[in-house]
Amino acid sequence: MNEASESQGPYDYDLIVIGGGSGGLAASKEAAKYGKKVLVLDYVKPTPLGTTWGLGGTCVNVGCIPKKLMHQAAILHQSLQDARTFGWTFDEKVSHDWTTMKDAIGNYIGSLNWGYRVSLKDNGVTYVNAYGEFVGPHKIKGTNKKGKETFYTAETFILATGERPRYLGIPGDKEHCITSDDLFSLPYSPGKTLVIGASYVALECAGFLSGLGLDVTVMVRSILLRGFDQQMANLVGDYLESHGVKIIRQFVPSKIEQIEPGTPGKLKVTAQSTDGSETLEGEYNTVLLAVGRDANTKNIGLETVGVKINEKSGKIPVNDLEQTNIPHIYAIGDLLDGKLQLTPVAIQAGRLLAGRLYNSSSVKCDYANVPTTVFTPLEYGACGYSEEKAIEKYGMENVDTYHSYFWPLEWTVPSRDNNKCYAKIICNKQDQNRVIGFHVLGPNAGEITQGFGAAMKCGMIKEQLDSTIGIHPVCAEIFTTLSVTKQSGKDVQQSGC
Ligand SMILES: Cc1cc2nc3c(=O)[nH]c(=O)nc-3n(C[C@H](O)[C@H](O)[C@H](O)COP(=O)(O)OP(=O)(O)OC[C@H]3O[C@@H](n4cnc5c(N)ncnc54)[C@H](O)[C@@H]3O)c2cc1C
Repeated sequence: MNEASESQGPYDYDLIVIGGGSGGLAASKEAAKYGKKVLVLDYVKPTPLGTTWGLGGTCVNVGCIPKKLMHQAAILHQSLQDARTFGWTFDEKVSHDWTTMKDAIGNYIGSLNWGYRVSLKDNGVTYVNAYGEFVGPHKIKGTNKKGKETFYTAETFILATGERPRYLGIPGDKEHCITSDDLFSLPYSPGKTLVIGASYVALECAGFLSGLGLDVTVMVRSILLRGFDQQMANLVGDYLESHGVKIIRQFVPSKIEQIEPGTPGKLKVTAQSTDGSETLEGEYNTVLLAVGRDANTKNIGLETVGVKINEKSGKIPVNDLEQTNIPHIYAIGDLLDGKLQLTPVAIQAGRLLAGRLYNSSSVKCDYANVPTTVFTPLEYGACGYSEEKAIEKYGMENVDTYHSYFWPLEWTVPSRDNNKCYAKIICNKQDQNRVIGFHVLGPNAGEITQGFGAAMKCGMIKEQLDSTIGIHPVCAEIFTTLSVTKQSGKDVQQSGC
């Protein structure tokens, strides 16, 4: 097809979606629902260690799903310990088998991969396992595993290629380190592990590995959980430390060397303090890099079609219709510049985009007040502003922060971890004390935050929260009785234990 006819059509497809992850699958199925002819291309480039996976993208294969299930495996360990105080007796020795857990989770993921294929088929979406790259404004090249190239044209395109873990570019990182892309299918227990980074991925992985009984250290360059409320981030860190995770602060690795091969082998890590004054060496079985993720916007032919990326972040800026600077090319999900990188966000954006394109809808994706949870051993749920962002936006004098520690009833009998769980809401005094920030650190914080997220979407004010009758005895009831502000300086520690 020559350039002129390619720009005018007819095209092979109404819509081609590049990337079959959370966003791409949602958008393609929704578009097909409105009778459109849709092609989705998905291709996973193996990690430097050769790990690869099936259809469905990051969340299902190397993100949310295996992460939450491994978090659950770690929680069961804690529950086993608590169980004795509730009268259960079992052998003193409790051990964990990595391979059993990894295989069970892998089998479940396999069933999801299969389910995605079936549902694409059922919805009439054509799926091709090939790497997509623009070769013309309306034309892409798909390259499959065997290197076979096929060309496809479409009227409209959606980019949903997501992100991949970043490497540090230091000697030995690609050869000897793993990332979250390798961890969840690692064929052996990682053993003594150094996690490098302070992102939620870093702390979640450190948390469940430690919960499974491994010796875990986290190496942090500056702050924990950048972008999240920093008081909460530090409480997450304190809990990890009080439960055996070692945190080395203000150090960055400079070299990774293999001392012994094996599964796991032994690695020597050399690190420098951020002020350059100190050098540290340590030996670990596994080094897990979790230092951020880069958008998959290179080598997909964006320069060929003129789609602009933010040179600094490598991500794609879009307008509020998820449209790039090239009108017939849209983008959704993790590769967007300045948007939240979460599965439900990618799904919502994808569905709504297809509705606007093909069902005369005008509903846009609302990226405000999106609830989220960090699945560290003590879960941290948040919605809306962090305290520091609220103060920056509305001014210290216009913000009231209500807070309290709380002690889950289930933890009283095992006598553990009092004054570790914490609840905080941030209210805008100039707007009827509207709740503009919600933060909870405690068991099942994800379940709690989901409900309050809905309330915040409805514009909940403090008075409504106060008039809500609590459910007793649950952790979330604390939010119906918050009466002490941070500004009052009153102590909110719980006595007892
Ligand atoms: C360890 C970890 C834990 C996470 N936990 C959570 C969580 O608990 N909750 C949550 O909401 N989010 C979580 N996330 C984030 C979540 O996984 C992402 O927000 C979500 O997957 C983004 O969806 P997406 O469609 O943008 O991209 P992805 O799901 O990454 O899908 C992109 C797909 O495109 C493919 N691709 C890339 N380039 C091409 C190409 N040129 N041609 C064809 N295919 C291509 C990729 O291989 C991939 O399959 C987690 C992420 C990680 C890494």
